Amino acid sequence: MAKINTICVQEGYKPKKGEARVTPIVQSTTFYYEKASQLADLFDLKTEGFFYSRVANPTVDVLEKKVAAIEGGVAALACASGQAAVLLSILNVCKAGDNIISSASIYGGSHNLMNVTLRRYGIEARFFDPEAEDSEIEKLIDEKTKLIYGETIANPSMIILDFEKLSRIAKKHKVLFVVDNTLATAILIRPIEFGANVIVYSSSKYLDGHAVALGGVLVDCGNFDYNNNSRYQDFYSFDESYHGVKYADNKSPFVTKAKVQLLRDLGPTMAPQNAFLTVLGIETLGLRMLKHSENAKAVAEFLDKHPKVAWVKSPNLKDNKYHGLALKYLPKGCGGMLSFGIKGGLEKVALFLESLKLIALVTHIADVRSSLLHPASTTHRQMSLVDLEKCGVSSDLIRLSIGIEDISDIIEDIRQALEKV
Ligand SMILES: *Cc1c(COP(=O)(O)O)cnc(C)c1O
Repeated sequence: MAKINTICVQEGYKPKKGEARVTPIVQSTTFYYEKASQLADLFDLKTEGFFYSRVANPTVDVLEKKVAAIEGGVAALACASGQAAVLLSILNVCKAGDNIISSASIYGGSHNLMNVTLRRYGIEARFFDPEAEDSEIEKLIDEKTKLIYGETIANPSMIILDFEKLSRIAKKHKVLFVVDNTLATAILIRPIEFGANVIVYSSSKYLDGHAVALGGVLVDCGNFDYNNNSRYQDFYSFDESYHGVKYADNKSPFVTKAKVQLLRDLGPTMAPQNAFLTVLGIETLGLRMLKHSENAKAVAEFLDKHPKVAWVKSPNLKDNKYHGLALKYLPKGCGGMLSFGIKGGLEKVALFLESLKLIALVTHIADVRSSLLHPASTTHRQMSLVDLEKCGVSSDLIRLSIGIEDISDIIEDIRQALEKV
């Protein structure tokens, strides 16, 4: 088995004689067959192939194969955005009346999807404190619980997931363990090695890595037994909406069901152009993740010593609550994100933001360019100070996404801006 960087570069596309060396963009909604019976076999999942790009496209397929391979899974499914991937991961196992158990510390968009939108459709999210003991989390589980959800590195709290605890609980109750690996990527950790059954990505972040293509990916780890597990009847009974297919018999039950049912019916498909750009991004993922991690660690250490800085949240720092978990699960690095606060209130924050020259104020994170965001005055500005504190976003919190520029230039930009404060 090839190692991770070789997989990033080579996996997913193998040209035959005379074909393009680099993944081609197949910009076609539909595909040609000579006989109706050939199409029928495709619809019955008897053969593999393409017929309509809402469900499968050759360029998107390359991305899916690549991401499945980097994570060590059996199959993957690309979607239009990370939000779509999170949504499909839940809808694939939940219907009205079911519930999911999630860490309270997750990406705001995922939290809102679970807590507001899915609740309206009768799917209940039960959130647990990431610090909670086994018994506290287990109390939330009942026969209608369909999955346990968490983020490897939570965005933006930088809390590291306690894989051992959650996979122990998931195994005990025979519930799917779903992990959003967006901020770490398979370069820094493979959640499959720590008990994950399904992996979710916003590929808009590090996989693309250049802030050019929205996307999401689901990975089926192929390590969950659905057969005779009463929580997942839909997987071992026959799907009448798909010619009586039984998903549990497939080598990738989760992704196959998500693809032929949900992608078919809901249609949040990734465009071939975006798949191409994301494939291109993944080719350099190994190099980038190590550089992002190294640079962010240096910035955390610089800010930690700076007299004008009130606090720094980075699992790289020894006194950080999650330093131990970071050493255990992320020995190669913690990625490019960190957050910090400036002493002296919001005026000082504004002065700092205005004084930066290299680091840009943007909503996006996790691309090659260093960027930052002040949630209290932008993405979270509708919220009261009390509500902000409740969701772990203090009014002085500045979220940094450190890029792969030269570290001396990044630190110099922060240093000169802090001087003006
Ligand atoms: C950004 C993000 C998402 C949502 O992804 P989009 O591609 O923006 O839809 C989901 N999870 C995490 C951890 C994210 O950072």
